[in-house]
Amino acid sequence: MPDCIFCAIAGGDIPGRIVHETEHSLAFLDVNPLAPGHTLVVPKDHYARLDDVPDEITADLFRTVDELVPRVEEAVDADATNVGINNGPAAGQEVEHVHVHIVPRFDDDGGNP
Ligand code: 5GP
Ligand code: ZN
Repeated sequence: MPDCIFCAIAGGDIPGRIVHETEHSLAFLDVNPLAPGHTLVVPKDHYARLDDVPDEITADLFRTVDELVPRVEEAVDADATNVGINNGPAAGQEVEHVHVHIVPRFDDDGGNP
């Protein structure tokens, strides 16, 4: 998928601030973070929507998210996280490659992003 920015990061064609990698998944910092430590977790292969992703890769993706949430919180001393997917353009998906947002939250950050 040559026009996909997340495929380009996964393929090493453009730089990404990569924080973790598994067999099927890659985690890197969001270039325009909603909060310090805002991390994206993606399947290395290109899938546009969550229900396109094969079960084995979905399991790897969410296991990776599960492992990273406490690490991200610790890294930026967050009090909580929003974890979510914009699944489809009408839901706000701008990059057409499945990605899970991990957005650190703080007691005093004034509400939802
Ligand atoms: P969406 O709205 O599709 O759920 O979120 C896309 C996210 O990707 C946004 O938070 C945006 O800042 C991030 N993003 C867009 N282009 C790049 C990029 O080239 N590198 C990185 N690291 N993040 C990107
Ligand atoms: Zn892609």
